[in-house]
Amino acid sequence: ALTIGIVGLPNVGKSTMFNALTKNDVLAANYPFATIDPNVGVVPLPDARLDRLAEIFGSEKVLPATVSFVDIAGIVRGASEGEGLGNKFLANIREADAICQVVRAFEDGDVVHVDGAVSPESDMETIHTELVLADLQTLEKAVARLEKEARIKKESKPLLDNALAAQKVLEEGKTLYAHGAAAGVDLAAAAGLGLLTTKPFIYVFNLDEDQLADTELHARLAALVAPADAVFLNAKLEMDLVEMSPEDALEMLQGFGAEESGLAQLARVGFHTLGLQTYLTAGPKESRAWTIRQGWTAPQAAGVIHTDFQRGFIKAEIVSFSDLDELGSMAAAKAAGKARIEGKDYVMQDGDVVEFRFNV
Ligand code: GDP
Repeated sequence: ALTIGIVGLPNVGKSTMFNALTKNDVLAANYPFATIDPNVGVVPLPDARLDRLAEIFGSEKVLPATVSFVDIAGIVRGASEGEGLGNKFLANIREADAICQVVRAFEDGDVVHVDGAVSPESDMETIHTELVLADLQTLEKAVARLEKEARIKKESKPLLDNALAAQKVLEEGKTLYAHGAAAGVDLAAAAGLGLLTTKPFIYVFNLDEDQLADTELHARLAALVAPADAVFLNAKLEMDLVEMSPEDALEMLQGFGAEESGLAQLARVGFHTLGLQTYLTAGPKESRAWTIRQGWTAPQAAGVIHTDFQRGFIKAEIVSFSDLDELGSMAAAKAAGKARIEGKDYVMQDGDVVEFRFNV
């Protein structure tokens, strides 16, 4: 499964947020046989359509899609100097598919800031710089190696050119994800060299409770990180919310002028940043959302349920959720001509409720 690595300076609330993520017992509740890794927090992607499908199909349970987060401790200013960022840190961050930086915006005299003052801008700049420097170090070695190789094998020449183009972007203090493509860098090849700034970024601003409804502040912080996505939450409040019933949690949030928990926002934004989407299946046993990449075809989507479904794919019977919702039953949707038969080239759309036909 795709994962998002959580980074941030010390004392910004990473552990607090991560504890809320792991207390979220979605995995334990829905997948009793899954091995639970203490370093991975799993968040359900909120999806009200599943409850409606469960109502229509009389499903026993509802299984939302999930997004996984890994806690990656160990980044501080100067980390990329001297002994480097640390092998464990680098390995962890390389494995992640996106990077989520927790940024402190809350003021609390009892919680020391590593740099002496709370400044979201400077925290973001610090981590940005460390990652760019780490990539430049990686490239220094890679370029030396590729230069040698290119003298013997001409296949290595494009790799070398790509590494040099990446180096140029990084020397300007820019990340490859945001600026690489425009400078002609092949991002997949750069990622293959282990370059960290090829990964998409998400920013989580850890706010004071009284900043949760401050839309002016949110807009200002969002503008700082655009086009990357921003999430606004209070990590301590999130810890409390995961222990409450959904109704109590919503009431509590509304009391602070918020509509949705930070973890729910994080799941949605994470999904978007990773380029994912869902399709739905429904029946008396369960209503379920399945995770696929945007642009996947029907057989690829079927393969997420079982590889046999992809291999033996014949066709997909699809009704869109909005039709089902409006007409109230599968039989009514079919009678109204809303059921479509799609073949192997069909590209899955958001809201597709699917039944696959396949050979075994
Ligand atoms: P980490 O070093 O980034 O993992 O930070 P922690 O999660 O350990 O938090 C550092 C300190 O800040 C702890 O004492 C937390 O209780 C406190 N803290 C975390 N989030 C918040 C918050 O949203 N508001 C306030 N006031 N304190 C927080």
